[in-house]
Amino acid sequence: MIDEVSGTAVDNGSVTLKPLTEQEIIDAIVSTKGPISVSGVHYSLGGNVRYPDSLILDLSEFDEVLELDVEQKLITVQSGISWQKIQQLIDPYDLSIKIMQGSNDYSVAGSLSVNAHSNYVAAGPVINSVRSIRIVLADGKVYEASRDKNNALFFGAIGGFGGLGVIVQATLELADNIALERTAKFLGYNEFNQHFNDNILDDEDIVQHQAVFYPPNYETLLDISWRKTDKPVTDARRLQSNEIEPWWESALANWKSRSALLHRFQKNLIDPVKYQKEMVVMRNLENSYNLRSSGFINSTTSTMVMQEYLIPVKRFEIFVFNMRDIFDRHDVDIFKVLISYLPQDHGGLLKGSSAHSFSFRVIYQQEKSKVSQQLVEAWTRELIAAAVNSGGSYILPYIIPDSVQQFVRAFPGSDYFYELKEKADPENRFKNLFWEQHLAAYNVKQEALRNLRTTSSEKN
Ligand SMILES: Cc1cc2nc3c(=O)[nH]c(=O)nc-3n(C[C@H](O)[C@H](O)[C@H](O)COP(=O)(O)OP(=O)(O)OC[C@H]3O[C@@H](n4cnc5c(N)ncnc54)[C@H](O)[C@@H]3O)c2cc1C
Repeated sequence: MIDEVSGTAVDNGSVTLKPLTEQEIIDAIVSTKGPISVSGVHYSLGGNVRYPDSLILDLSEFDEVLELDVEQKLITVQSGISWQKIQQLIDPYDLSIKIMQGSNDYSVAGSLSVNAHSNYVAAGPVINSVRSIRIVLADGKVYEASRDKNNALFFGAIGGFGGLGVIVQATLELADNIALERTAKFLGYNEFNQHFNDNILDDEDIVQHQAVFYPPNYETLLDISWRKTDKPVTDARRLQSNEIEPWWESALANWKSRSALLHRFQKNLIDPVKYQKEMVVMRNLENSYNLRSSGFINSTTSTMVMQEYLIPVKRFEIFVFNMRDIFDRHDVDIFKVLISYLPQDHGGLLKGSSAHSFSFRVIYQQEKSKVSQQLVEAWTRELIAAAVNSGGSYILPYIIPDSVQQFVRAFPGSDYFYELKEKADPENRFKNLFWEQHLAAYNVKQEALRNLRTTSSEKN
């Protein structure tokens, strides 16, 4: 049977375990043989969190706070906990999560395992807020890992897509829950790079920054900054309430994705009014939207999907040009494209190749059908090629129609990662379909090297 969204085989032979303690995770690993796939709260579909006939360790209920040090601004958690649960606990102490995604639904381990990021200008990806982790490897042994101790495991597991072992615990740095003031302005796409360089990049008071690209022309951006301020808040709420959206919102989102007129309406009428209003809020309020309230809809027939491309800053305009051309030729309906900045990544082994990049988060509504999946794969393939040819990389939580060569070019650290995986997980037990596909990249490279060595020794 084929999953309509991911286009991959549905797996009926797996067994799911929802552990509550570290010991249960260890026992599950040592008392079984065969593949193990690990998941947080399952937002990465398309095979990132599963493997046929595997033991699925679902950590969504492994979600306790183990220690909160308010003075040191540090929190230690079981890894399946969601950002939302942490926010509820730390907000009364006027503390904030330092780095997370644009919404708070995800688990800590799921976020660490993809080395997630959002729009914090200087902060970079989530690894920059991690003091240490605990990880259980395939032999059932538990390791503490940090920048100073077992650092290969630290840099391998963060951004390692569940391929090394089970992250069971994380100690994270927190930030102050300060007041932030919003400023917004409209820009032509060819003004954006200069504007970012001159006005945003080195301004230490700007904590968060993001630009919204308006489809279908991708000529205009709405540039939004959140700056530290001493002004009183204009909205006294501490956290978003994230009530369930009314039924008509999904119809509207779907309709809007397809209508150039509605995009124009949003750009010319709604947003100019909405963004001219003064807005000062606490950091936690701005960072506690969930996916539904951010417009992500999942219905029986379609779902909102996000793809991400990391493009070197100096290639911004050429990528916009290519992206626009690809969307035009394939007649793609895009809900919105969000741009944010990612500083040079000193993070995980599997970091992308691009230093100082703009992240393009492409958000669209996708029908749950095989045909729709194939159409998406066609334009996604071209976007991946455009990103890799620009010296960039990509993060696709749903489908990965990339080639071995593209993966190796986009993720130059993959060699070291695979060497580490061979040591940490010699029987290749920690698996998912993402790894299955990309392990091929390593094997192809190894084979090519072996051939090269044989040919040169024959010559000698
Ligand atoms: C609509 C949407 C919007 C998104 N927006 C952003 C964004 O703004 N920024 C961004 O960076 N990302 C974004 N993402 C991607 C998101 O960060 C990842 O999908 C994230 O992994 C989801 O967390 P999760 O808890 O659902 O993880 P899961 O989907 O459950 O797992 C993700 C990966 O982590 C591994 N994993 C999970 N738990 C463990 C563990 N304990 N030990 C080892 N490995 C583990 C899994 O094997 C899998 O490979 C978005 C995704 C979606 C669907």
